[in-house]
Amino acid sequence: MTGGLEGYDEVAEANAQKSILDIHWSRICARLKAEVGEVEYNTWLRQMGVGPVEEDEITLYLPTRFLRDWVRWQYGDRLGALWHAEIPAIRRVELQVARGPSSSAEGEAATAESHPAAPVAAPVVEAAVVEEPRTAEVRSDLAAPLDPRFTFETFVVGKPNEFAYACARRVAERPSSPGFNPLFLYGGVGLGKTHLMHAIGSELVREGRVSVAYMSAEKFMYRFIAAIRSQSTMEFKEQLRSVDVLMIDDLQFLIGKDNTQEEFFHTFNALVDAGRQIVVSADKSPSDLSGLEDRLRTRLGCGMVADIHATTFELRISILEAKATASGVDVPAKVLEFLAHKITSNVRELEGALNRLIAHANLFGRPVTLEATQDVLHDILKANNRRVTIEEIQRKVAEHWNIRLTDMSSARRSTVVARPRQVAMYLSKQLTSRSLPEIGRKFGNRDHTTVIYAVRRVMELMEQDPAFAEDVELLRRMLES
Ligand code: ADP
Ligand code: MG
Repeated sequence: MTGGLEGYDEVAEANAQKSILDIHWSRICARLKAEVGEVEYNTWLRQMGVGPVEEDEITLYLPTRFLRDWVRWQYGDRLGALWHAEIPAIRRVELQVARGPSSSAEGEAATAESHPAAPVAAPVVEAAVVEEPRTAEVRSDLAAPLDPRFTFETFVVGKPNEFAYACARRVAERPSSPGFNPLFLYGGVGLGKTHLMHAIGSELVREGRVSVAYMSAEKFMYRFIAAIRSQSTMEFKEQLRSVDVLMIDDLQFLIGKDNTQEEFFHTFNALVDAGRQIVVSADKSPSDLSGLEDRLRTRLGCGMVADIHATTFELRISILEAKATASGVDVPAKVLEFLAHKITSNVRELEGALNRLIAHANLFGRPVTLEATQDVLHDILKANNRRVTIEEIQRKVAEHWNIRLTDMSSARRSTVVARPRQVAMYLSKQLTSRSLPEIGRKFGNRDHTTVIYAVRRVMELMEQDPAFAEDVELLRRMLES
C-alpha cells in the first residue's frame, strides 16, 4: 500500500478520537436502551451527548439542568459502570448542562446544530468489521451493533421512498442478485438512507445467513488511515474482503480523499467480483457526485440506483402516526397534522419534534395539545417557517384559478382576474414580511391603498362564502408547506 495520509492532520486525529468515543457511546446507548426501554430512554437519555475525556473522567452533556439532575440521580451510577466497562481507564462520569456535540456517527451534528434545541439524534451504532465473519457466533454478534430501531418494520413506506424500500428489501432477501449489486441509495439529509441500510443489515443478520459490515465512509477512511499508521493495511483489506455484505454510508464524504477512494474502489471490485453485495448511500446520484473518480462513479451506477424523494404531507402523517403509536403517548390527530404541515425539511427533524413533545407529556403528565405543541416547539417551528416569495404566491394562485401569471400585474379589472389577484395580495400580506407598498409594486405597480382594499375585500368574502374561504385556506397551507 502506498500513500500519503491525505487530509490527515490534527483535526483528523481529534475526529478519530471522537469517532472511537462515539463507538463506545453507541454501544452504551444501545445497552441503556435495552435496559430501561425505549420510552424511558427517549424521555431521559436520548439527548445526552458525549464530551471530552480527561484523565479518568468523561463528561456527558444534557440540555437542561432538570434533565441533568434527573439523569444523575437515576442513572449516574449505571452510566459510570457502563463507561468503565467500555474503557476501564474511565472511573467517573461528569454530567454537565450544555448541548454537547452530537455523538452520532454521520454528520448529524450539523443538523442538530442548525436547530440547537432539537433533540440530538441517538447515535447510530456501527457494526465493526469482524475478524471471522463466517462463523455463526460472530454473525449473531454482528446483529448487536446495528441500531435496533432501524428495521423494515419501523420504516414507513410512501410514494417518495417506496422504490428505495423495495430495492432494500430485495437485497435483504437475496443479496448479490444480478441487477441489484451494488445497491446505490441516494437522497437528501434525514430521509431514511441510513435507516434502510441498517434494516438490510438487521434482516440479514437476523436470518443468520451472512456476515454484514456497515460503516460510514468517514469511518472507512479513519480505519484505513489507522491501518496505514499501524502498518496493517493487509489485515484491513482482508477483513473487509471477507464479508458477504459491505455497506458504506454517506459516500460523498470520500470526495477529495483520493487515497481512500482508491482503496474503496479496490475493495469494491474485489467484493463484487467475488459475488458479494455492496450497498452504498450518498446525497446525490452517482452521476452527480462530481469529485469521485470516474471509474468509481461508473461502477457505482452499474447496479441498482434508487433515490429517496423529499417527503410528502401524507408520508409525514403516516410516519408521525407510527411513531406516536409506538411511543404510547396519545397525540391528537390535529397535532400530527400541524407538525406535518410545519416541519417539512426531513424526517429526522419531524421525529425530533415529536420526541420532544412526547418527552414533555411524560415529564409533566399533561396531555398533548395544539397549544402545548406550539409552546414546546416554538424554536423548531420558527426555523421551519418557510419564506414564501410573492412570486411563488402569484404563481400558485394563478394556477389555482387558471389565469395567466401576467394577469397578476396586468391592468385587467374583470372579476375573473381581479379576484385571484386580490387573493394573491392578501396572501402576500399574510405570508411575507413585505410592506404594503412593496406588495403593490409587485402587482403591476399598484398603490398600497389597492393592497389594503384587496386584503379587506378578501377577508369579507371569506366570511360570506365558506367555499371561497376554503380555497384561500388551501392555498395558504400549500404555500406554507
Ligand atoms: P439519512 O441517512 O437519509 O440522512 P436517516 O436514515 O438517518 O436519514 O433518517 C433520519 C431519521 O428519520 C431516523 O431516525 C429514521 O429512523 C427516520 N426516518 C426516515 N425515514 C423514515 C421512514 N420512512 N419511516 C420511519 N422513520 C424514518
Ligand atoms: Mg445517514
